[in-house]
Amino acid sequence: MRLAARVKQVPASVTLAIAAKAKAMKADGIAVCNFSAGEPDFDTPDSIKEAAKLALDRGKTRYGPAAGEPELRKALANKLQRDNNLNYQAENIIVTNGGKHSLFNLMMATIEAGDEVIIPAPYWLSYPEMVKLAGGTPIIVPTEASNGYKITPDQLRQAINPKTQLFILNSPSNPTGAVYSPSEIRALAEVVVETNVTVVSDEIYEKILYDGAEHLSIGAVSPEAFDRAIISNGFAKSYSMTGWRLGYIAAPVELIQAMSKVQGHSTSNVCTFAQFGAIAALEGSQDPVQKMLDAFTQRRTVMFEGVNAIEGLSCPKPGGAFYLFIDISKFGLTSIEFCSRLLDSQQVAAIPGIAFGDDRCIRLSYATDMDSIQRGLERLRTFVASC
Ligand SMILES: *Cc1c(COP(=O)(O)O)cnc(C)c1O
Repeated sequence: MRLAARVKQVPASVTLAIAAKAKAMKADGIAVCNFSAGEPDFDTPDSIKEAAKLALDRGKTRYGPAAGEPELRKALANKLQRDNNLNYQAENIIVTNGGKHSLFNLMMATIEAGDEVIIPAPYWLSYPEMVKLAGGTPIIVPTEASNGYKITPDQLRQAINPKTQLFILNSPSNPTGAVYSPSEIRALAEVVVETNVTVVSDEIYEKILYDGAEHLSIGAVSPEAFDRAIISNGFAKSYSMTGWRLGYIAAPVELIQAMSKVQGHSTSNVCTFAQFGAIAALEGSQDPVQKMLDAFTQRRTVMFEGVNAIEGLSCPKPGGAFYLFIDISKFGLTSIEFCSRLLDSQQVAAIPGIAFGDDRCIRLSYATDMDSIQRGLERLRTFVASC
């Protein structure tokens, strides 16, 4: 049987290959220090689990509206107003099977052959592949460590042309931990408005911020920016709910209706009782979020100082999320070679930067316990000394 061309141009996930090998080693009884995780290592807060259990008991087990439970869409509108100063109604919101699915639906609803999507690199690895699956062309704009891995307004302006359909902004960033300051967001918003381009703002790490950093949603900058913004977010990272598959997009009604059509003919509604867990996450105490942030804050200090104390390694201080993006270019290895050898010789799992569009680097996640962090840093030091 012939496979579709759209699938052939999408590579298998480098991330998954390394993660699978680390898992296999672990299963063989080898003590792996795993810095490859792309998800918080905490359990979902009890209050959220209880709300989903209650929903099950109350019979919330049937098909629901494709765009999400009305109560959740309303709660999300409240959240966007409260946290982000964004004035949306329930009808401006679609609930999806995760942030990833939100973006996929969005591409299906907006991208045609010949359309360009601007993606600053390093990028979250699924962005370009989703654009390609939808038939569009990713336009990768490289950024530099010296600039904190952030796209500048000039770089954005230069990349925009009549074929540009979307610009994807991700702050805080996976994989670099970069956080755009409010003034940097305002400067990008100016270009967005001036060029009349649509910006997709992936804000999934908005709650994981350090040193008092402030998250400004680009849609909140001005009414003109609001009209050109699509806000993508989800529950996975803030509430440690990765397996629940809960994301959402807020955007003009016309786009939400288009995405609802895509969703209505593909996945339909997100698991009904899971959506009631999401309502509890939004409306219950936010203490669990703070607790997780406290743990990430401690680990981030240990990781950042530990890595930068190793001769030959360096990375910018992450302002958010739970990753370090480390320059390994001094060693003359590709990022895949570096990570494979690190795993084989020291049993430390890291993700090659090439997966995120930068072969000079590797990504270490600190969504793991402090003990593994300490041991892993020691092994990393030993490995680097042998390079
Ligand atoms: C984890 C992640 C997402 C979405 O994850 P879901 O589990 O699909 O909700 C989206 N964007 C980035 C940058 C991420 O790291």
